[in-house]
Amino acid sequence: MDSSEPYFNPEIETLDRGELDALIEERVRYTAKYAAENSPFYKKWFEKQSIDPAEIKTHEDLLDLPIISGKTIRENQPPEMKEFMFKSVPWEDVFTVHETSGTSGTPKSFFLTWEDWERYSEKYARIFRSQGFGPGDRVVVCASYGMNVGANTMTLAARQLGMSIIPEGKCTFPLRVIESYRPTGIVGSVFKLLNLARRMRIEGIDPQESGVDKLVVGGEAFAEESRNYLSEIWGCPVYNTYGSTEGTMCGECSEVFGLHVPEDFVHLDIYDPHIGNYVPEGECGRVILSTLLPVGAKAGNLLLNYDTEDTTVVLTRKQCPCGRTHMKIMTPQREAETVWVGGAPFNRVDVEKGVFQRENMDYLTGEYEAFLYGDEDEGETILRVSIECENPDICDRDLIEENFIRAFLRYKPSLSRAYTEGTFKIVFNFTDPMGLELHRIKGRPKRLVDRR
Ligand SMILES: [Zn+2]
Repeated sequence: MDSSEPYFNPEIETLDRGELDALIEERVRYTAKYAAENSPFYKKWFEKQSIDPAEIKTHEDLLDLPIISGKTIRENQPPEMKEFMFKSVPWEDVFTVHETSGTSGTPKSFFLTWEDWERYSEKYARIFRSQGFGPGDRVVVCASYGMNVGANTMTLAARQLGMSIIPEGKCTFPLRVIESYRPTGIVGSVFKLLNLARRMRIEGIDPQESGVDKLVVGGEAFAEESRNYLSEIWGCPVYNTYGSTEGTMCGECSEVFGLHVPEDFVHLDIYDPHIGNYVPEGECGRVILSTLLPVGAKAGNLLLNYDTEDTTVVLTRKQCPCGRTHMKIMTPQREAETVWVGGAPFNRVDVEKGVFQRENMDYLTGEYEAFLYGDEDEGETILRVSIECENPDICDRDLIEENFIRAFLRYKPSLSRAYTEGTFKIVFNFTDPMGLELHRIKGRPKRLVDRR
């Protein structure tokens, strides 16, 4: 592959809107047919809804169908059922089996054929290409290999792009990896990459001189402020990606304004469960996704109208300055990371925004955790924010508190009112490095915990 080529699959990535929509409709029709014929769940589901799958002709027809959730998948697999009702190929076509680490009990099972892997890896190949990766790039993948498909998919994508992967799986790799292989890119989380930079500086390696010229962050939403800070520390762009075992793989291109959705492989609608309907373009709601299969293709698992429980906004369906025509969405946020105080929601990312105010970062490591306490009936809710200082003795606490409160309450009129009236309090706790509770808990750190 020519490294000056800006697209991985130019024909599809720059397809004009009319042709792209026609391709989507063709795949909607085929996917509905495939589902009805091969997925025990959908076969029954269509019968139960008295829907003839041949009636599903356009993506709008999908909107009339019921929405399914992670719960639906769990209820349609062992131990609830004898069979995996979503498995849509015979065992001889299943290449790998994956389980998503559900927060609630039984993990969801996913079955992938080799074709699924090829489609997944094409999605990542397009993303990497749109971020300027190509032949000769050497990328350390800090995302974990295993049940999670992300790291493996990126590794497969690298093969298609002619770039090299250093599959560390964790961000705690020895620093000789940086010095010996001079990687040009690293895939990790904001916090792991900040921590890696700190470790490098202690050893006398300047991240900006390390040869790394692109960072890819995936797996979770982050505040724009934390991206900017990470980018400043490493002296290079930081690109966001959003992927899941269900097959959404969206990524920011070099424009760094919204994530392109691979519309030929996955159809995405935005739904508001509170009003029980899809929202107009430009409004926030839940990401509802449907798999789109190329005509003639097989899938180990497919989903129609699947509620991801992540929220986003469609930014645009117009052609991006990068030339791609596929729609762009805002970084999805986890609904599980949103809490409500007195009828007003805020997300973990809002807390992060308060922490990562630029002036604060002269004193902080960036690590934080927040807890909600209190009882609205008793008229008091307390947000307790714990923040790690590089050195608590010289940390300007007043400045940090002021910056946090200003940034956190901005655009939140009812929370601001509650704060002024004293029914919503924000208290701070400053700790040493590694002083947070989350360092003592295994697994994905929970940074906003509702303890009410
Ligand atoms: Zn673009």
